[in-house]
Amino acid sequence: MIKFLDLQKINLVHQQEIEEKILHTFRSGWYLLGEEGKNFEDNLSAYTGAKYAVGVASGLDALRLIIRAYMELGIMQKGDEVIVPANTYIASVLAISDNGLVPVLVEPDLDNYNIDVSKIEEKITRKTKAVMVVHLYGRIVFSEELSNIAQKYGLKIIEDNAQATGAEYDGVKSGNLGDAAGWSFYPGKNLGALGDAGAVTTSDKDLAKTIRVLANYGSDQKYINVYKGLNSRLDEIQASVLNVKLKYIDEENDKRRKIAEKYATQLQNPKIILPELPKNEKEHVWHLFVIRTKERRSLQNYLTDKGIQTLIHYPVPPHKQKAYKELNGLSFPVAEKIHDEVLSLPISPVMNEDEVTKVIGFLNGF
Ligand SMILES: *Cc1c(COP(=O)(O)O)cnc(C)c1O
Repeated sequence: MIKFLDLQKINLVHQQEIEEKILHTFRSGWYLLGEEGKNFEDNLSAYTGAKYAVGVASGLDALRLIIRAYMELGIMQKGDEVIVPANTYIASVLAISDNGLVPVLVEPDLDNYNIDVSKIEEKITRKTKAVMVVHLYGRIVFSEELSNIAQKYGLKIIEDNAQATGAEYDGVKSGNLGDAAGWSFYPGKNLGALGDAGAVTTSDKDLAKTIRVLANYGSDQKYINVYKGLNSRLDEIQASVLNVKLKYIDEENDKRRKIAEKYATQLQNPKIILPELPKNEKEHVWHLFVIRTKERRSLQNYLTDKGIQTLIHYPVPPHKQKAYKELNGLSFPVAEKIHDEVLSLPISPVMNEDEVTKVIGFLNGF
Protein backbone atom coordinates (compact mmCIF):
# COMPACT_ATOMS: atom_id res chain seq x y z
CA MET A 1 0.00 0.00 0.00
CA ILE A 2 1.16 3.55 -0.69
CA LYS A 3 0.27 5.59 2.37
CA PHE A 4 -0.86 9.17 2.10
CA LEU A 5 1.74 10.13 4.69
CA ASP A 6 3.96 7.68 6.54
CA LEU A 7 4.73 9.57 9.73
CA GLN A 8 6.58 6.67 11.28
CA LYS A 9 8.96 6.49 8.35
CA ILE A 10 9.36 10.27 8.21
CA ASN A 11 10.46 10.41 11.85
CA LEU A 12 12.55 7.24 11.86
CA VAL A 13 14.89 8.94 9.37
CA HIS A 14 16.05 10.95 12.40
CA GLN A 15 15.64 8.17 14.95
CA GLN A 16 18.99 8.34 16.67
CA GLU A 17 19.15 12.10 17.01
CA ILE A 18 15.56 12.41 18.17
CA GLU A 19 15.86 9.60 20.72
CA GLU A 20 19.03 11.10 22.16
CA LYS A 21 17.41 14.52 22.47
CA ILE A 22 14.27 13.16 24.12
CA LEU A 23 16.31 11.11 26.56
CA HIS A 24 18.42 14.14 27.38
CA THR A 25 15.31 16.22 28.10
CA PHE A 26 13.77 13.42 30.14
CA ARG A 27 16.87 13.14 32.29
CA SER A 28 17.31 16.89 32.65
CA GLY A 29 14.27 17.20 34.92
CA TRP A 30 13.22 20.47 33.20
CA TYR A 31 10.13 20.18 30.98
CA LEU A 32 8.69 23.62 30.26
CA LEU A 33 10.18 27.02 29.38
CA GLY A 34 13.75 25.76 29.36
CA GLU A 35 16.81 25.57 27.17
CA GLU A 36 15.38 23.50 24.31
CA GLY A 37 12.46 25.86 23.88
CA LYS A 38 14.74 28.88 23.99
CA ASN A 39 17.07 27.26 21.44
CA PHE A 40 14.21 26.43 19.17
CA GLU A 41 12.95 30.01 19.27
CA ASP A 42 16.44 31.25 18.38
CA ASN A 43 16.76 28.67 15.62
CA LEU A 44 13.36 29.48 14.16
CA SER A 45 13.93 33.21 14.20
CA ALA A 46 17.33 32.75 12.54
CA TYR A 47 15.80 30.41 9.96
CA THR A 48 12.95 32.77 9.15
CA GLY A 49 14.71 36.09 9.50
CA ALA A 50 11.99 37.43 11.81
CA LYS A 51 13.47 39.06 14.91
CA TYR A 52 11.38 37.12 17.41
CA ALA A 53 9.93 33.66 17.72
CA VAL A 54 7.68 32.52 20.56
CA GLY A 55 6.94 28.83 21.03
CA VAL A 56 3.30 28.03 21.83
CA ALA A 57 1.15 24.94 22.17
CA SER A 58 -0.37 24.70 18.67
CA GLY A 59 -0.92 26.44 15.37
CA LEU A 60 -4.42 27.49 16.34
CA ASP A 61 -3.09 29.05 19.54
CA ALA A 62 -0.37 30.87 17.60
CA LEU A 63 -3.00 32.58 15.44
CA ARG A 64 -5.37 33.22 18.36
CA LEU A 65 -2.56 34.74 20.39
CA ILE A 66 -1.52 37.10 17.60
CA ILE A 67 -5.00 38.60 17.48
CA ARG A 68 -5.39 38.59 21.25
CA ALA A 69 -2.08 40.43 21.60
CA TYR A 70 -3.14 43.05 19.05
CA MET A 71 -6.26 43.52 21.20
CA GLU A 72 -4.24 43.95 24.39
CA LEU A 73 -2.05 46.47 22.56
CA GLY A 74 -5.14 48.47 21.57
CA ILE A 75 -4.70 47.80 17.84
CA MET A 76 -7.79 45.62 17.48
CA GLN A 77 -11.02 45.28 19.40
CA LYS A 78 -14.07 43.04 19.53
CA GLY A 79 -16.27 43.51 16.48
CA ASP A 80 -13.37 44.41 14.19
CA GLU A 81 -13.04 42.54 10.92
CA VAL A 82 -10.28 40.32 9.61
CA ILE A 83 -10.15 39.25 5.98
CA VAL A 84 -9.44 35.55 5.44
CA PRO A 85 -9.74 33.16 2.47
CA ALA A 86 -13.03 31.25 2.22
CA ASN A 87 -11.30 27.93 1.47
CA THR A 88 -8.94 27.62 4.42
CA TYR A 89 -8.74 25.05 7.20
CA ILE A 90 -11.16 26.06 9.93
CA ALA A 91 -8.38 27.03 12.37
CA SER A 92 -7.70 30.29 10.53
CA VAL A 93 -11.33 31.34 10.95
CA LEU A 94 -11.57 30.08 14.54
CA ALA A 95 -8.61 32.22 15.57
CA ILE A 96 -10.55 35.30 14.50
CA SER A 97 -14.00 34.45 15.86
CA ASP A 98 -12.62 33.08 19.16
CA ASN A 99 -11.44 36.58 19.94
CA GLY A 100 -14.80 38.16 19.16
CA LEU A 101 -13.63 39.55 15.83
CA VAL A 102 -15.48 38.97 12.58
CA PRO A 103 -14.02 36.77 9.84
CA VAL A 104 -14.71 38.31 6.42
CA LEU A 105 -14.33 35.60 3.81
CA VAL A 106 -12.83 36.22 0.38
CA GLU A 107 -12.88 33.91 -2.62
CA PRO A 108 -9.71 32.03 -3.57
CA ASP A 109 -8.05 31.99 -6.97
CA LEU A 110 -9.04 28.83 -8.83
CA ASP A 111 -5.57 28.39 -10.31
CA ASN A 112 -3.46 28.47 -7.18
CA TYR A 113 -6.05 27.93 -4.40
CA ASN A 114 -4.85 30.96 -2.46
CA ILE A 115 -6.83 34.08 -1.58
CA ASP A 116 -7.69 36.12 -4.68
CA VAL A 117 -5.85 39.32 -3.84
CA SER A 118 -7.86 41.29 -6.40
CA LYS A 119 -11.01 40.62 -4.37
CA ILE A 120 -9.71 41.89 -1.04
CA GLU A 121 -10.20 45.61 -1.49
CA GLU A 122 -13.96 45.40 -2.06
CA LYS A 123 -14.35 43.70 1.35
CA ILE A 124 -12.53 46.37 3.32
CA THR A 125 -14.65 48.50 5.68
CA ARG A 126 -13.85 50.94 8.49
CA LYS A 127 -13.71 47.97 10.83
CA THR A 128 -11.15 45.98 8.87
CA LYS A 129 -7.92 45.63 10.83
CA ALA A 130 -6.03 42.80 9.18
CA VAL A 131 -5.73 40.36 6.33
CA MET A 132 -4.95 36.83 7.38
CA VAL A 133 -3.26 35.15 4.42
CA VAL A 134 -2.99 31.38 4.38
CA HIS A 135 -0.16 29.85 2.37
CA LEU A 136 -2.44 26.98 1.49
CA TYR A 137 -1.00 23.57 0.61
CA GLY A 138 2.48 25.08 1.08
CA ARG A 139 2.26 27.75 -1.59
CA ILE A 140 3.13 31.31 -0.67
CA VAL A 141 0.56 33.98 -1.23
CA PHE A 142 2.25 37.33 -1.28
CA SER A 143 2.66 40.15 -3.76
CA GLU A 144 3.33 43.83 -4.05
CA GLU A 145 -0.39 44.29 -4.65
CA LEU A 146 -1.15 42.68 -1.28
CA SER A 147 1.36 44.77 0.63
CA ASN A 148 0.12 47.93 -1.14
CA ILE A 149 -3.46 47.22 -0.05
CA ALA A 150 -2.31 46.63 3.52
CA GLN A 151 -0.38 49.87 3.51
CA LYS A 152 -3.13 51.92 1.92
CA TYR A 153 -5.69 50.88 4.54
CA GLY A 154 -3.34 50.45 7.49
CA LEU A 155 -4.02 46.72 7.80
CA LYS A 156 -1.84 44.15 9.52
CA ILE A 157 -0.84 41.15 7.45
CA ILE A 158 -1.06 37.99 9.52
CA GLU A 159 0.37 34.87 7.90
CA ASP A 160 -1.16 31.51 8.63
CA ASN A 161 2.08 29.67 7.99
CA ALA A 162 0.90 26.27 9.21
CA GLN A 163 1.46 24.62 5.84
CA ALA A 164 4.37 26.52 4.34
CA THR A 165 7.41 26.09 6.59
CA GLY A 166 10.46 26.89 4.48
CA ALA A 167 8.71 28.53 1.53
CA GLU A 168 10.24 31.72 0.21
CA TYR A 169 9.04 34.78 -1.71
CA ASP A 170 11.67 36.95 -3.35
CA GLY A 171 14.35 35.74 -0.94
CA VAL A 172 12.17 36.23 2.17
CA LYS A 173 10.94 33.22 4.10
CA SER A 174 7.29 32.67 4.92
CA GLY A 175 6.76 33.76 8.49
CA ASN A 176 8.67 36.96 7.79
CA LEU A 177 6.54 38.42 5.01
CA GLY A 178 3.83 40.12 7.04
CA ASP A 179 3.51 41.63 10.52
CA ALA A 180 3.16 38.33 12.37
CA ALA A 181 2.90 34.65 11.51
CA GLY A 182 1.39 31.61 13.16
CA TRP A 183 3.13 28.27 12.68
CA SER A 184 1.88 24.75 13.32
CA PHE A 185 4.11 21.80 14.07
CA TYR A 186 1.25 19.32 14.14
CA PRO A 187 2.83 15.92 13.32
CA GLY A 188 1.59 15.89 9.72
CA LYS A 189 2.95 19.31 8.80
CA ASN A 190 6.21 19.68 6.86
CA LEU A 191 8.00 20.40 10.14
CA GLY A 192 6.13 18.11 12.49
CA ALA A 193 6.57 17.50 16.21
CA LEU A 194 5.52 14.32 18.03
CA GLY A 195 2.37 15.94 19.30
CA ASP A 196 0.91 19.44 19.23
CA ALA A 197 3.23 22.42 18.94
CA GLY A 198 3.26 25.85 17.36
CA ALA A 199 5.01 29.20 17.24
CA VAL A 200 4.61 32.85 16.40
CA THR A 201 7.25 34.79 14.49
CA THR A 202 7.30 38.57 14.21
CA SER A 203 9.74 41.45 14.14
CA ASP A 204 7.42 43.52 16.34
CA LYS A 205 8.98 43.60 19.78
CA ASP A 206 5.85 44.64 21.68
CA LEU A 207 3.78 42.01 19.96
CA ALA A 208 6.30 39.25 20.72
CA LYS A 209 6.52 40.26 24.37
CA THR A 210 2.73 40.43 24.74
CA ILE A 211 2.27 37.01 23.16
CA ARG A 212 4.89 35.49 25.42
CA VAL A 213 3.16 36.86 28.49
CA LEU A 214 -0.35 35.97 27.30
CA ALA A 215 0.69 32.39 26.56
CA ASN A 216 1.98 31.99 30.10
CA TYR A 217 -1.18 32.90 32.05
CA GLY A 218 -0.72 36.57 31.30
CA SER A 219 2.14 36.51 33.74
CA ASP A 220 5.36 38.44 33.24
CA GLN A 221 6.74 37.41 36.61
CA LYS A 222 5.72 34.32 38.50
CA TYR A 223 2.34 34.87 40.17
CA ILE A 224 2.02 38.43 38.83
CA ASN A 225 -0.64 38.60 36.12
CA VAL A 226 -0.95 41.55 33.78
CA TYR A 227 -3.47 39.95 31.39
CA LYS A 228 -6.22 37.35 31.67
CA GLY A 229 -3.96 34.99 29.80
CA LEU A 230 -4.02 31.38 28.80
CA ASN A 231 -1.77 28.37 29.09
CA SER A 232 -0.17 27.78 25.72
CA ARG A 233 3.46 26.77 25.98
CA LEU A 234 5.73 24.73 23.76
CA ASP A 235 7.10 21.92 25.92
CA GLU A 236 10.76 20.93 26.07
CA ILE A 237 10.32 17.49 24.51
CA GLN A 238 8.57 18.88 21.44
CA ALA A 239 11.09 21.69 21.19
CA SER A 240 13.97 19.21 21.30
CA VAL A 241 12.43 17.16 18.48
CA LEU A 242 11.86 20.32 16.45
CA ASN A 243 15.46 21.40 16.99
CA VAL A 244 16.56 18.20 15.27
CA LYS A 245 14.05 18.33 12.44
CA LEU A 246 14.48 22.02 11.61
CA LYS A 247 18.03 21.24 10.44
CA TYR A 248 16.66 19.00 7.70
CA ILE A 249 13.58 20.91 6.60
CA ASP A 250 15.11 22.45 3.46
CA GLU A 251 16.42 19.10 2.31
CA GLU A 252 13.04 17.50 2.97
CA ASN A 253 11.17 20.26 1.17
CA ASP A 254 13.45 19.72 -1.85
CA LYS A 255 12.42 16.07 -1.89
CA ARG A 256 8.78 17.15 -1.94
CA ARG A 257 9.55 19.53 -4.83
CA LYS A 258 11.07 16.68 -6.87
CA ILE A 259 7.97 14.57 -6.40
CA ALA A 260 5.70 17.48 -7.26
CA GLU A 261 7.69 18.11 -10.41
CA LYS A 262 7.38 14.50 -11.44
CA TYR A 263 3.63 14.56 -10.86
CA ALA A 264 3.34 17.84 -12.73
CA THR A 265 5.24 16.68 -15.79
CA GLN A 266 4.09 13.08 -16.02
CA LEU A 267 0.45 13.16 -14.97
CA GLN A 268 -1.62 13.28 -18.13
CA ASN A 269 -5.30 12.66 -17.90
CA PRO A 270 -7.96 15.02 -19.25
CA LYS A 271 -10.13 14.23 -16.23
CA ILE A 272 -7.54 15.67 -13.87
CA ILE A 273 -6.59 19.31 -13.34
CA LEU A 274 -3.12 19.79 -11.92
CA PRO A 275 -2.08 22.51 -9.48
CA GLU A 276 -0.36 25.48 -11.07
CA LEU A 277 3.39 25.59 -10.51
CA PRO A 278 4.79 28.86 -9.17
CA LYS A 279 7.26 30.78 -11.34
CA ASN A 280 9.89 30.36 -8.68
CA GLU A 281 9.99 26.86 -7.19
CA LYS A 282 10.97 28.26 -3.77
CA GLU A 283 7.48 29.70 -3.41
CA HIS A 284 6.05 26.23 -2.87
CA VAL A 285 6.97 23.57 -0.31
CA TRP A 286 4.25 21.11 -1.38
CA HIS A 287 2.76 20.34 1.99
CA LEU A 288 0.05 18.84 -0.20
CA PHE A 289 -0.17 17.98 -3.88
CA VAL A 290 -3.77 18.74 -4.69
CA ILE A 291 -5.45 17.87 -7.98
CA ARG A 292 -9.00 18.64 -9.05
CA THR A 293 -11.48 16.36 -10.77
CA LYS A 294 -15.21 16.32 -11.41
CA GLU A 295 -15.13 12.58 -10.68
CA ARG A 296 -13.59 12.74 -7.26
CA ARG A 297 -15.55 9.98 -5.62
CA SER A 298 -14.88 7.42 -8.34
CA LEU A 299 -11.23 8.47 -8.64
CA GLN A 300 -10.69 8.16 -4.91
CA ASN A 301 -12.37 4.73 -4.82
CA TYR A 302 -10.34 3.59 -7.82
CA LEU A 303 -7.09 4.65 -6.14
CA THR A 304 -8.10 2.97 -2.88
CA ASP A 305 -8.67 -0.26 -4.82
CA LYS A 306 -5.16 0.08 -6.23
CA GLY A 307 -3.74 0.51 -2.72
CA ILE A 308 -3.15 4.26 -2.89
CA GLN A 309 -4.32 6.43 -0.01
CA THR A 310 -5.62 9.90 -0.79
CA LEU A 311 -7.30 12.57 1.34
CA ILE A 312 -9.55 15.57 0.77
CA HIS A 313 -8.37 18.99 2.00
CA TYR A 314 -11.04 19.97 2.74
CA PRO A 315 -14.47 18.45 2.08
CA VAL A 316 -16.55 21.26 3.67
CA PRO A 317 -15.61 24.96 3.63
CA PRO A 318 -15.86 26.89 6.93
CA HIS A 319 -18.94 28.85 5.81
CA LYS A 320 -20.84 25.59 5.25
CA GLN A 321 -19.97 24.12 8.66
CA LYS A 322 -22.64 23.77 11.32
CA ALA A 323 -20.27 25.56 13.70
CA TYR A 324 -20.62 28.73 11.60
CA LYS A 325 -24.39 28.96 11.24
CA GLU A 326 -24.09 32.73 10.85
CA LEU A 327 -22.09 32.19 7.66
CA ASN A 328 -24.17 29.34 6.21
CA GLY A 329 -26.21 31.68 4.00
CA LEU A 330 -23.15 33.08 2.21
CA SER A 331 -22.14 31.89 -1.21
CA PHE A 332 -18.57 31.45 -2.45
CA PRO A 333 -18.81 29.56 -5.74
CA VAL A 334 -15.06 29.31 -6.33
CA ALA A 335 -14.34 28.04 -2.82
CA GLU A 336 -17.25 25.61 -3.02
CA LYS A 337 -16.05 24.28 -6.36
CA ILE A 338 -12.60 23.71 -4.89
CA HIS A 339 -14.01 21.91 -1.87
CA ASP A 340 -16.12 19.72 -4.18
CA GLU A 341 -13.34 18.73 -6.54
CA VAL A 342 -9.99 18.56 -4.71
CA LEU A 343 -8.09 15.41 -3.94
CA SER A 344 -4.67 15.26 -2.27
CA LEU A 345 -2.16 12.71 -3.61
CA PRO A 346 0.54 11.08 -1.49
CA ILE A 347 3.62 13.27 -1.12
CA SER A 348 6.34 13.28 1.53
CA PRO A 349 10.12 13.32 1.90
CA VAL A 350 10.17 9.53 2.32
CA MET A 351 8.09 8.61 -0.71
CA ASN A 352 10.35 6.87 -3.20
CA GLU A 353 10.54 7.13 -6.95
CA ASP A 354 8.86 3.79 -7.58
CA GLU A 355 5.88 4.81 -5.51
CA VAL A 356 5.53 8.10 -7.36
CA THR A 357 5.74 6.27 -10.71
CA LYS A 358 3.07 3.85 -9.56
CA VAL A 359 0.69 6.60 -8.53
CA ILE A 360 1.22 8.35 -11.86
CA GLY A 361 0.60 5.15 -13.79
CA PHE A 362 -2.70 4.49 -12.05
CA LEU A 363 -3.85 8.09 -12.40
CA ASN A 364 -3.05 8.16 -16.11
CA GLY A 365 -4.99 4.92 -16.51
CA PHE A 366 -8.12 6.24 -14.83
C1 LIG B 1 -2.82 22.78 10.74
C2 LIG B 1 -3.35 24.13 10.45
C3 LIG B 1 -3.64 25.05 11.46
C4 LIG B 1 -3.69 24.71 12.92
O1 LIG B 1 -2.61 24.10 13.45
P1 LIG B 1 -2.73 23.17 14.76
O2 LIG B 1 -1.33 23.03 15.18
O3 LIG B 1 -3.39 21.92 14.35
O4 LIG B 1 -3.54 23.93 15.75
C5 LIG B 1 -4.00 26.32 11.11
N1 LIG B 1 -4.12 26.68 9.82
C6 LIG B 1 -3.88 25.83 8.82
C7 LIG B 1 -4.01 26.31 7.42
C8 LIG B 1 -3.51 24.52 9.10
O5 LIG B 1 -3.29 23.68 8.09
